[in-house]
Amino acid sequence: MFARSIALVLACGLTAPLSAQTPAPATTLFQNVRIFNGKVGQLSGPSYVLVRGNKIERISSTPIATDRRADTVVIDGGGRTLMPGLIDMHWHTMLVRPTPAALLMGDIGHLNLVAGAEATATLMRGFTTVRDMGGPAFGLKRAIDEGTVAGPRIFPSGAIITVTSGHGDFRQPFELPRTLGAPQSRGEQLGAAMIADSPDEVRVRVREQLMLGASQIKLTAGGGVASPHSPLDASTFTEAELRAAVEAAENWGTYVTVHAYTPASIQRAIAAGVKCIEHGHLMDEATAKLIAEKGIWLSTQAFPDEQADAFPPGSSERAKALEVFAGTDRTFALAKKYKIKTAFGTDILFSPGLAQRQGELLAKWARWYTPAEALVVATGINAELLALSGKRNPYPGKLGLVEEGAFADLLLVDGNPIENIKLIEDPARNFVLIMKDGRIYKNTLPK
Ligand SMILES: [Zn+2]
Repeated sequence: MFARSIALVLACGLTAPLSAQTPAPATTLFQNVRIFNGKVGQLSGPSYVLVRGNKIERISSTPIATDRRADTVVIDGGGRTLMPGLIDMHWHTMLVRPTPAALLMGDIGHLNLVAGAEATATLMRGFTTVRDMGGPAFGLKRAIDEGTVAGPRIFPSGAIITVTSGHGDFRQPFELPRTLGAPQSRGEQLGAAMIADSPDEVRVRVREQLMLGASQIKLTAGGGVASPHSPLDASTFTEAELRAAVEAAENWGTYVTVHAYTPASIQRAIAAGVKCIEHGHLMDEATAKLIAEKGIWLSTQAFPDEQADAFPPGSSERAKALEVFAGTDRTFALAKKYKIKTAFGTDILFSPGLAQRQGELLAKWARWYTPAEALVVATGINAELLALSGKRNPYPGKLGLVEEGAFADLLLVDGNPIENIKLIEDPARNFVLIMKDGRIYKNTLPK
């Protein structure tokens, strides 16, 4: 009996369709749009774009004839801008809305439903893809891919991997010392963060995330703002531990990215073979040069000062936040000076209010970049970093571009965001149509 039920489970596992719920998308023809293609910082002349299934089939400067089948949707763009959906390279799908206490004490079913609602809101802000930099996002990703929940494409990292006392270790002092083999902490049970204190433990934790479906691996190589026991200046993993993670990820054809602010933590990570640095706000000139020479990616953020308000006045977390934010100008200056491959992300945690300003955090890049440069980063360039996931890329194909053959992740913008990047601060008003994977999720154009 037992054997028969195991066999049944195995058979179901092998044959269950993963995306049975969603009907095939219709054909959509965009007429009279001006295209920002995600590569070139200017708009095309009046154009026509045909989407068939989930891909852009044809782009033309002259009208495209359609068979006008009943399932063909014709959109008169009225000269508006058609651009790729935005990509956020440092997002935490599961950690945006809950408070830290709700995350650690709440019910996982509730957390998933809350995260599903936030995923829909994220898509409605025009973000059609996010790279999840830590949290138990695999179930949500599957529900989105199946069409059960509306949300962005998710490149999941699974649990953040950290050391005892590192950024992501949210245990309380009374939980120490941990006896080896003792039950996992709540953060580990949730799959939010895993603690690993040797190369062998790191390998286990990395391989577990890969088995669950991680498209890249995230470690915290140095101290962090929001963690209670993690000074900013601390370097956490040893080089051997970082290298164990890199080997395990590369054996699976993907890469490791690390949270790191300081020169020491960044340099050690690069020595171990890490391919991408998250944040980097406290880097110095020599580190910037090294990042550029080695062709390492920098995935960074223009944190707004108000983000420090999440922490009480006088708290060490608030002091750490302000120290990091003070490095923002210098980091962007160094990134530009050394032509570092720079990706855009927001890293919004535990703040549904700030999440509503996701686009505004991109518009802030206008302090260092032209609007066109910032928009190219948030689309075509971000997609280049996504492609580093190689065979672990859950959505192989062209993302972040308006090109023939690319995935049809598109925004129709009322206005020209290259002239006025502030348009992306108000997606409810200015993104009049949002399409992901060929499917229209929003259309407020007059019928
Ligand atoms: Zn983060």
